Formats: sequence, C-alpha cells, structure tokens
Amino acid sequence: MCQARGLLNDGSRTMEGKPQTNARRRFLVADHVEPHKGDRYKFFFGKLQTLCPDHHDVVKQGEESRGFSVEVGLDGWPIDINHPANR
Ligand SMILES: [Zn+2]
Repeated sequence: MCQARGLLNDGSRTMEGKPQTNARRRFLVADHVEPHKGDRYKFFFGKLQTLCPDHHDVVKQGEESRGFSVEVGLDGWPIDINHPANR
C-alpha cells in the first residue's frame, strides 16, 4: 500500500512517509491478502503481503469492515472501484 503511493517503506516510516518515532511500530506486518476470518486453511496457506503497521492496523482492517478503501489518488478521488463514489 505504501508502494502504491510511491513510498518504499521498510517499516522505518509512517504511512504518510514521516520517520516512525514509535520503536514498537518499526516493523512490517505479514498480512493475509484475502481475509482468513478464522479459516485455518486460509490462515496457513493464504497469500501474504507485507504492510507497514499503519496500513495494516488502520487502513486494511477498516477496508475489511467497510468493504472498500477510502484512500484517494493525487486527484483527490477515491481509488477503489468499490468505493460508493465510483459505483
Ligand atoms: Zn504502508
């Protein structure tokens, strides 16, 4: 998600690209691309991606509960085709 915004983040940055000052959040998270929702097969064998803690905790989990991303592109319009503004 950072990479999609042009930021190469090894965990040393926040999702806004500022230096991560919280030492306990200077890591990358192994995120299940498809939510496993308790399914053991999906948990152990599902596709993984690395995310910064901000994107994992704030954005991804919010998307999963809402069903769409609220991230906007450089033009200020929502980038997710599932966002209500794009339907
Ligand atoms: Zn990120």
